[in-house]
Amino acid sequence: MKQLQVEADHPYLVHIGAGAFDLFADTYRPLLDAADQIVVIADEKVAELHLQYLLNYLTDWDIRVLTIPAGESAKSVETFMACHSFLLSESCSRNSLLLAFGGGATGDVVGFVASTFMRGVPFIQLPTTILAHDSAVGGKTAINHELGKNMIGTFYQPKAVLYDSGLLSTLPPGEVRSGMAEVIKHAFISNEQWLSELLAIEDFSLLTEDQLNRHLEKGIAVKAAIVEEDEFEGGVRKYLNFGHTLAHALEGHLGYGKITHGEAVVLGMSYALLLSEHQKLAAFIQWAKVNNYPLYLLKKIQFEALLPYMKKDKKSSKGELNFVLLEQTGHPYVDKVDEQRAFAAYEKLVSQIG
Ligand code: NAD
Ligand code: ZN
Repeated sequence: MKQLQVEADHPYLVHIGAGAFDLFADTYRPLLDAADQIVVIADEKVAELHLQYLLNYLTDWDIRVLTIPAGESAKSVETFMACHSFLLSESCSRNSLLLAFGGGATGDVVGFVASTFMRGVPFIQLPTTILAHDSAVGGKTAINHELGKNMIGTFYQPKAVLYDSGLLSTLPPGEVRSGMAEVIKHAFISNEQWLSELLAIEDFSLLTEDQLNRHLEKGIAVKAAIVEEDEFEGGVRKYLNFGHTLAHALEGHLGYGKITHGEAVVLGMSYALLLSEHQKLAAFIQWAKVNNYPLYLLKKIQFEALLPYMKKDKKSSKGELNFVLLEQTGHPYVDKVDEQRAFAAYEKLVSQIG
C-alpha cells in the first residue's frame, strides 16, 4: 500500500491499495474512538456490492448506515437534506464522524454535508471509482443546481482518504473509461513520459491491479501538488480544468447522465489539444477511438448548441471564452479564445475525427 500526503488547510494522507481499510483499526483508531457516532453514507449500488466488506473492518464500533441514490442523482438538495435529517435523527453532534463510501458523486455530496452539519464535522473519503482518485482529493464539495452543475458547495478537506483499489474490480467498463479520462488529464498537465505510457493502452481491462494503482498514485500526486499550491483555485488549480470547458458544455447540452463526466472530458481534451496545436492530438484521437470514447458525438452536435454553456463556464467572464491549453505536455496555461477561432477549431476537430 502507498500513501501520499496532501498539505491543505490541515495535512492529511491518501492511502492507496488493497488493505487500505485495515487502517481504521490502526492509524485512524483514535479518530474513530473519539467520535460519538460514526455514520457511513453510501452510494446504494456500492452498498449492495461492498457494504458488508467495509463493515467487516469496522466491527469495533457501532456504525450507522445511510444509503443514498447511486451516482450523480445524489448531488441534489433532496439528498443533502435527507443526510442532515438522518444525522439529526441519529442524534449526531459536532463530534460525529462521516464516512463517504462511493464515487465522486457520493464524495461531493457527503463532503458538502460534512462541511455544513453543525458547521462542520470530520469526514473520511472512501472512494470506489477510478475517477474518484481525482474527486476525493482536494476538498471541493458540491451539489448541483438545476441551472448548473456543482453550483452549490464548499472547500472542505477530509481527515483522510482510504482508497481500497480492490473495490474497483466491479466497475462497469463505462465507469473505467470515465475514470481513465481524468488519469490521462493529469498526465497531459504534468508528464510526457507518463502520457506516452497511457497512450499505449488499448484495453483498460488488461491493466493489472498494480499497473492501475501506479497510474492512480501518479494522478493523485499531480492533483495533491496542485491543491497544495492553490487550495482555493486562485491560480494553478484552474489547470485541472483541462478539457473541462467543452466537457461541461457537452454534459449540460446532452443532459447529465447521458454521457459520463470522463467521456465528456476526453472530447473536451481533444478540442483543447486542437486549440493548443498539440503534437499528440492525432495519437490522442486514436487512443480515444480504440478505447471506445464517444468522439462521434461531436459530429452530431452543433458548436452553437455548446457555446452558451461554454460562456457560463466558471473560468469565463463577461461572455468571453477561456480555455486551459497546453504550450506542451506539462505546461498548461489559460487562454482567451475568440468565438470565431473557437468555432473554426470545432469544425476542424469534427473533420479530423473521421
Ligand atoms: P459516480 O459517483 O456518479 O459513480 C458512477 C457510477 O458508478 C454510479 O452509478 C455508482 O453507483 C457506480 N459505482 C461506484 N463505485 C462502484 C464500484 N466500485 N463498482 C460498481 N459500480 C460502482 O461517478 P464518479 O465518476 O466517481 O464521479 C463523478 C462525480 O465526481 C461528478 O459529480 C463530478 O462532478 C465529481 N467530481 C468532483 C471533483 C472534485 O474535485 N470534487 C473532481 C472531479 C469530479
Ligand atoms: Zn473532471
